[in-house]
Amino acid sequence: MDCIFCKIIEGKIPSYKVYEDENVFAFLDITQGTKGHTLIIPKEHIKNVYDLTEGMAENIFKVVPKIAKALKTAFNPIGINIISNNEKPLQSVFHFHIHLVPRYENDGMELSTVNNYGKFSEEYFMTLVKDIKENL
Ligand code: AMP
Ligand code: ZN
Repeated sequence: MDCIFCKIIEGKIPSYKVYEDENVFAFLDITQGTKGHTLIIPKEHIKNVYDLTEGMAENIFKVVPKIAKALKTAFNPIGINIISNNEKPLQSVFHFHIHLVPRYENDGMELSTVNNYGKFSEEYFMTLVKDIKENL
């Protein structure tokens, strides 16, 4: 399979590895959007969150606080964002990954999501809840 992250796990492409266990691999994102920007990936190749089983999610997400705390202690960021891009055009590497992005004063990134507080009715919120729950 022509997957750059599978090749990184296999050691065919070099990476700055920070963590590895039986199921999970973590390494520095090559772009270093902020200092310490790290990617956590499952060793098993899956495209994105829609293919993630509960068991795989357990394995991968349990590593998130471990690495987040290491980044906090190592680099003293003001906070950290945990991001996962899924599907084109958001996703550019089609092997599921979680970005850990330590945040710093004036790091050039947005602080948060768009704030639409107060723009929507209670009915609208109820419709959203219904639409989601029907599909769980
Ligand atoms: P995205 O799929 O948009 O969530 O992002 C994929 C991420 O993988 C980008 O932030 C890239 O910088 C990163 N990336 C791509 N190739 C490599 C590589 N060889 N080593 C480390 N990071 C990589
Ligand atoms: Zn892969």
